[in-house]
Amino acid sequence: MADFKYKRVVLKLSGEALAGKNGESFDIALMDEISNEISKLISGGVEVAVVIGGGNIIRGASQEWMNRENADYMGMTATVINSMALAEVLRKNNLKAKVFSAIPMELVCETYNPSVADEYLKRGEVVILGGGTGKPYVTTDTTSTLRAKELNCECVLKATKVDGVYDDDPVKNPDAKRFDKISFDDCLNRGLKVMDEKAFKMAKDENIHIIVFNMFEKDNIVKVLQGEDVGTVVS
Ligand code: UDP
Repeated sequence: MADFKYKRVVLKLSGEALAGKNGESFDIALMDEISNEISKLISGGVEVAVVIGGGNIIRGASQEWMNRENADYMGMTATVINSMALAEVLRKNNLKAKVFSAIPMELVCETYNPSVADEYLKRGEVVILGGGTGKPYVTTDTTSTLRAKELNCECVLKATKVDGVYDDDPVKNPDAKRFDKISFDDCLNRGLKVMDEKAFKMAKDENIHIIVFNMFEKDNIVKVLQGEDVGTVVS
């Protein structure tokens, strides 16, 4: 059995990460790959809670044409659609998956309840936490750190388009250096943006490690948890 560094984790996937590059709502091949990697974690005894964003459908803060709270509720609802889609892909790949929503939608999925979610995690089911925090004015980064704290997860695996945290923008500066690890304070002092500010503050206060890594590289979810030199650990 593979040796993993953490026993219970939150995997944070952005909504955009699920979207197809050709304008489809979902990239099923990529979701199959994510499912395959989650399966390796589950087989290795890691308990996996997934938080998915909604950026492939709507982000509240960018909807200047409408009321912010309504836009945020649309964003939260979008995360439930994404959660349901991922759950279908996981089940198709013979994994057990349970979707919760922080906003009650009783015909669609169970309302989020931390003790019930905890039971499913202990049983080795993938728990997908949709509906964000259920409250506007935050993003699914905050959902990730909040749920990590509530469910006693040791870290948030933040799957992104970049390889980790750099000392400068790696797109603009080819000499930018990736950190393999960095402290919360160092990130703040250098003005490095790892996730949204409220979420970052909570992770720092509660010492929830954040591991930032590129989800488009095959097996990266597995590699970061095996402590390979992939991504950046913020602790
Ligand atoms: N959202 C919210 N409260 C939450 C989580 C999410 O209001 O607790 C809304 C917010 O409008 C956000 C959108 O849902 O922009 C989608 O989430 P996010 O932007 O985090 O998605 P991602 O960028 O990860 O795809």
